[in-house]
Amino acid sequence: MSAPDIHSARPSFASFAPPQRTLMGPGPSDLHPRTLAALSRPTVGHLDPSFVGMMDELKVLLRYAFQTENALTFPVSGPGSVGMETCFDNLVEPGDTVIVCRNGVFGGRMIENVERAGGIAIVVDDVWGETVDPQKVEDAFKTHPEAKLLAFVHAETSTGARADAQALAEIARRHGALSIVDAVTSLAGCELRVDAWGLDAVYSGSQKCLSSAPGLSPVTFSEAALERIKGRSRRVQSWFMDLNLVLDYWNSAKRTYHHTAPINNLYALHESLLLLAEEGIENAWARHARLHRMLRAGLEAMGLQFVVAEPWRLPQLNTVYVPEGVNDPEVRRRLLNNFNLEIGAGLGPLAGKVWRFGLMGQSCREENIILCLQALAETLNALGLPTDGDAAFASAHAANTA
Ligand SMILES: *Cc1c(COP(=O)(O)O)cnc(C)c1O
Repeated sequence: MSAPDIHSARPSFASFAPPQRTLMGPGPSDLHPRTLAALSRPTVGHLDPSFVGMMDELKVLLRYAFQTENALTFPVSGPGSVGMETCFDNLVEPGDTVIVCRNGVFGGRMIENVERAGGIAIVVDDVWGETVDPQKVEDAFKTHPEAKLLAFVHAETSTGARADAQALAEIARRHGALSIVDAVTSLAGCELRVDAWGLDAVYSGSQKCLSSAPGLSPVTFSEAALERIKGRSRRVQSWFMDLNLVLDYWNSAKRTYHHTAPINNLYALHESLLLLAEEGIENAWARHARLHRMLRAGLEAMGLQFVVAEPWRLPQLNTVYVPEGVNDPEVRRRLLNNFNLEIGAGLGPLAGKVWRFGLMGQSCREENIILCLQALAETLNALGLPTDGDAAFASAHAANTA
């Protein structure tokens, strides 16, 4: 095997020009032009006085998005997975029992996190596509009264199912446990009230319903969670994620150097949160719900069936079964190549069986739904499955004006 000849290859390299896609998968979502523009503003030092003012605003805007007054609310430098590890690594000590709800991919990752932090995971399983059963969680606490934490996913992106975060957190509290909540896909896409629902440690992501660039994970911690972290008997194993250290940068007047913040990415998050505040969080939730009804009417008029039962469907992540005899990868390939439209494939036991249509943040727009219905109808017809696109449009419009 010979080494690549970089000298002769180099002259043919050019600036990368990505295609202009419409992102209707499980994330990332489309960026608003204002958010995209924010990324290209001049980079300043991460201890620059001008930057510090922006950080303070960012925390206030995040508290609004999370509907919380938690002082400890900030964006972790890293994707949603790093926010997840930050929660588990700081809250779980070796030997701790943690009840973890699993009804999709992301609950499974929580189990991994508990075990890697030295904890003991008690798994409450539900079928993929169904919600988390609160009775099973109640039973798990009865068998494991020593459990210190309950972890669950609010919006399971792998299936499109919502969990009753308020009810689950209430069960945890009644049993003297704190809650760790994955709100990566729920934040800004459906109702989420950290304080009113009493959630303790919540992590999210910048690239789903906030429609900012991937790579930041907003987190928020209740006073009780903060006390638990401060009272740990041993140091957090991860230096980078140890909140006791990170906070000297994000949450103190000292602004001590910890790591170089992703400056431009933070500009973008700030801008996307401004857009959210301008719209109003409740209006954003209502927009996702309304356009979900529109998309749903169109998809159902084409004969497609939803995986999740109606009360637990996420407006921002619509999962439908691939019709019998249809070539799933070929459909997605044609949508991408012919329409620049990205949708999501199934994961785990749902691989090859479902499509996932994201309506997240800036991607949640009426024109995207029209494009999606049109592209899907044309593609299915071209592949030999008679599909009435006109009926789908009519149903979608009727649902949107109902
Ligand atoms: C996307 C997602 C994650 C992981 O976020 P990354 O930014 O990809 O690390 C975690 N949980 C849920 C529910 C998600 O949808």
